[in-house]
Amino acid sequence: MSSACKLVGRANRPEGTVVAIRDVIIGGPEFVVAAGPCAVESKDQLMKASAGVASAGARLLRAGAFKPRTSPYAFQGLGEEGLRLLALAGRSAGLPTVTEVVSTEDIPMVAEYADALQVGARNMQNFALLKALGGAGKPVILKRGLSASIDELLMAAEYIVLHGNPQVVLCERGIRTFETATRNTLDLNAVAVLKQMTHLPVIVDPSHGTGRRDLIAAMSRAAVATGADGLLIEVHPAPDSALSDGAQSITPAAFAKLMCELAALVPVAGRQLAPAPAPEYHRGRIASIDDAVDRLLSERARLMHEESVGV
Ligand code: PEP
Ligand code: MN
Repeated sequence: MSSACKLVGRANRPEGTVVAIRDVIIGGPEFVVAAGPCAVESKDQLMKASAGVASAGARLLRAGAFKPRTSPYAFQGLGEEGLRLLALAGRSAGLPTVTEVVSTEDIPMVAEYADALQVGARNMQNFALLKALGGAGKPVILKRGLSASIDELLMAAEYIVLHGNPQVVLCERGIRTFETATRNTLDLNAVAVLKQMTHLPVIVDPSHGTGRRDLIAAMSRAAVATGADGLLIEVHPAPDSALSDGAQSITPAAFAKLMCELAALVPVAGRQLAPAPAPEYHRGRIASIDDAVDRLLSERARLMHEESVGV
């Protein structure tokens, strides 16, 4: 490793760093799965995706409101409206949220809505963004650049930590190679190498890593075996009509099946997978939302009455 990697080097904290996204701890005994659609497209799409991933045992809801697309003509995301929907979906599913921030000026707004900020592959070496994230006050998920070496990924993380934010999770999401059978080549070497080189948690994104939904389950299992701390998986209620990354998105049903497979595999790798919530969990949350709606409606009725009688 580059000797300039002073802060994120394993030697600096041999026991490993844990990153807390609200009550979800990455880098500890738990194997953490983040899931959700590539992009927030609509309330209905996001609510279906978030309910599906939560009931299958995902621990974080991840969806993009600002999409850094290769083509300027492709769907760019819903912006602040997408952030609002993400916060709403996260609350109703009971999951902390993760979303991408693409520019320095957007950090305060994105940090106000989301529990963790993602730096996308195309921005891994946007040093102004990395420095500013040092002061964001929220954990960062840093994705490996399309053609970035492991050293470059570590130095990008070093920027964020040096500027004041030690809560960084690294994400292997595939790199460019000569191979064309898959969108990218998921570099699982990187997980084992990073685990030696740095104390930061490492998660794997098999969706971007392969670009193919038929490969997500196999590469997720492989990620568990390499010692990754978690996964990031794209899940869409109707992948074939997704506005971005449909080919690599799986349905909530396929995600639920994968989570069952992981429930058997994760303990073999010496980690734990949080159990999927029991059906009563959803009943309980719906009941508490109903209570909140009732309270707000009565407050509204009271205010309307006061207004009409001129109080
Ligand atoms: C994404 O997570 O949807 C995304 C744009 O990923 P990446 O930056 O890894 O391409
Ligand atoms: Mn995507």
